[in-house]
Amino acid sequence: MRRTEADRCPGVLAVHEAADGGLARVRVPGGVLSLAQLQVLRMAASELGDGRLELTSRGNVQVRGLTEDGPRELSRRLYDAGLLPSITHERVRNILASPLSGLDDQGTYDVLPLVSAVDRALCSRPGLAELPGRFLFALDDGRGDLSGVQADVLVRAVDEREALLSLGGSAVRVSWAEVPEVMVAAAEAFLAERDGQEWRIAELDDGGRRILNRLGLPTTEELPTDTETTGSSVITAGRHGSALVVTVPLGSLGQEQAVVVADVAEQVRVTPWRSLVLVAPADQGARLEEVGLVTKADSPWNGVTACAGQPGCAKALADVRAEAWRVTPRLPRHGRPMHWSGCARRCGKPSGEFVDVLALGNGYSIDGERM
Ligand code: SF4
Repeated sequence: MRRTEADRCPGVLAVHEAADGGLARVRVPGGVLSLAQLQVLRMAASELGDGRLELTSRGNVQVRGLTEDGPRELSRRLYDAGLLPSITHERVRNILASPLSGLDDQGTYDVLPLVSAVDRALCSRPGLAELPGRFLFALDDGRGDLSGVQADVLVRAVDEREALLSLGGSAVRVSWAEVPEVMVAAAEAFLAERDGQEWRIAELDDGGRRILNRLGLPTTEELPTDTETTGSSVITAGRHGSALVVTVPLGSLGQEQAVVVADVAEQVRVTPWRSLVLVAPADQGARLEEVGLVTKADSPWNGVTACAGQPGCAKALADVRAEAWRVTPRLPRHGRPMHWSGCARRCGKPSGEFVDVLALGNGYSIDGERM
């Protein structure tokens, strides 16, 4: 696919001017936030934005409603907190990792320690500042939970020694020691192979094979067919030893919720499913529920997402988030994720099958049927 529009993927330094003010997207490699960083983000949202922290489908965090002077002060605070380590590469630090890696026995190899190495390798290559803001790296610890996130460069654990490097449908085995270098080398090869129009490897004809050939790594492996070993692209809430998986309704974390999270958790990981993994005592579930966070697997909020809608987006035909807030508590538990969209662009929709709730301007359709 050839693109004609510019890459306007927002960052901290390239703030998007939304209808409700500036929107800054803060990259959080591996989704890992220290408690101090969470506090900085919370205070920034309170003092510079609309008070809420938005979790994105790539495990990043957004602050919106920024005033004119907000972006400058925000970038200063994030730099001091270690959340803006590279000026040139800030928008390309899109690195997912299995959020429960190392916290339960479902993974084959703990990939969290590799996130920093991939991030450093990425930021050390000047040319990779040219990557599109949507280009995505992912480290799957073997459980298969990231197989549905449509990463450009996906590494999935095979065993303690090796992983499968997967690029646009082509795959090869690599040793763990070479993973950080080979991931960024694949990104460099993508930039060399594309003609300047493609944003993703999947948009490049036969892209995966061409990149592997350029790297001298001819395809040798079949991709795993068990695409989602967690059973869903949505992590349902539950307890995993001392790790709590907490759904944040509509991915919007309020001030009080962020305070309680920081109070109960020793460590916070942002997932790509609008939830948080908290390393925290299991008996803190009730406290999290008290402030509207979800720890129960049968909650109707699990798997429900919505785009910005009105008033944040000028294209929106309705305030879809308000409607989702109103309707969701009355919904029965549903098998598929559900996504509310303010227009046909369907920003932030889940990958794979989902219940498609679309604003029409004078009502809604659900899976194409007018309601
Ligand atoms: S789906 Fe439409 S209304 Fe919603 S955020 Fe995207 S452009 Fe705006």
